[in-house]
Amino acid sequence: MPVGACIWPLAKPLVKPAGRVLASFAAFSQRALSTLVLAEHKDGALLPNTLHTLTAAKQLGGPVTVLVAGGVGSTTAVAAAASKADGVTAVLTAEHSCLAHSLAEPAAGLLGAVQRSRKYTHVLAPSSTLGRNVLPRAAALLDVQAVADVVEVRDERTFVRPIYAGNALATVQAVGEGVRMLTVRPTAFAPSATGGGSASVEPVSPEEMQAARDAAGASQWVGEEVCKSDRPELGQARVVVSGGRALKSAENFSALLDPIADKLGAAVGASRAAVDAGYAPNDLQASVGQTGKVVAPDLYIAIGISGAIQHVAGMSSSKVIVAINSDADAPIFQIADYGLVGDLFKVLPQLAAELSPNK
Ligand code: FAD
Repeated sequence: MPVGACIWPLAKPLVKPAGRVLASFAAFSQRALSTLVLAEHKDGALLPNTLHTLTAAKQLGGPVTVLVAGGVGSTTAVAAAASKADGVTAVLTAEHSCLAHSLAEPAAGLLGAVQRSRKYTHVLAPSSTLGRNVLPRAAALLDVQAVADVVEVRDERTFVRPIYAGNALATVQAVGEGVRMLTVRPTAFAPSATGGGSASVEPVSPEEMQAARDAAGASQWVGEEVCKSDRPELGQARVVVSGGRALKSAENFSALLDPIADKLGAAVGASRAAVDAGYAPNDLQASVGQTGKVVAPDLYIAIGISGAIQHVAGMSSSKVIVAINSDADAPIFQIADYGLVGDLFKVLPQLAAELSPNK
């Protein structure tokens, strides 16, 4: 992939005389490095994307603090798990009803206040729905520019991120003295080990907690509909079976893909076209790509998917890519490790039969 290079100012003023920029570099590099990671958790468990983000945090050097925010009584088990994660030196907890449903405003208010009082050199969050919502808001509160979707940490101020739907990588160099605020693409970093650490756990200060309360109220949590599925979650699945527009209907989509996904223990994904056409159930949040989920499973099977760059942006890091398409010139074959040119309506029933456990 071509590598672009650009300078991305992280702090105002956006245009500085060269001498002042160099002075800022020097001032920043003299500060002792320290990183705060916003944890993501659910049902009392730390989500894997936080463990991936911790790996990026450790690569920066310096102590790593994890911030666990949530509703009353929700952070104890998560904080205990975070304190045992490899490389974590401290855990901060923040509990309040306004933090119970991951609303962005109080979470960003809290993150901003914690950063203002404790002055980390870096603040990281997973590049998830939560992280992408909260971290840029906190960056705005702190008057610095966030860097999104980091896939490589070169040093404490140099980061690599995909641009043009993943068709190029930009090397981004932070200037200025402000905190570096990054969302980290979890699939680009291995997960940190858990179990061996013994970090201290303490609550945030009343003043920091007050900032979360002050920021609450701009949005209100109304309710949620939880979709139950026996399948693995798309972002975490080892195997993903994805269908495209060629499936032609919702009935075909589930009749042809479900048996294969069931036999492989796979998550079901889809192209945006298949979701928009109503073939793939949108309640599964199944779309893969630039505007959908970014996945990197061991095995990704693309069925009747052309391989548009916006789709490829979400799955090109998969370890093994298998494509089934009737058009031998479909772009998906350019990135596939294994390709089958054929009519999916003939191929999939045969594949499902071959995958049968009694064969
Ligand atoms: P098509 O492009 O219609 O391809 C269907 C494929 O099926 C073709 O290659 C065809 O040869 C093959 N086929 C047809 N019949 C059969 C058969 N019987 N057997 C086997 N193969 C068959 N798309 C995403 O997926 N994710 C995104 O996040 C995303 N974000 C976008 C963001 C923007 C700003 C824009 C502009 C577009 C975005 N898109 C996204 C849309 C993307 O550009 C493509 O339109 C979309 O991915 C196409 O979906 P598809 O491959 O299923 O459909």
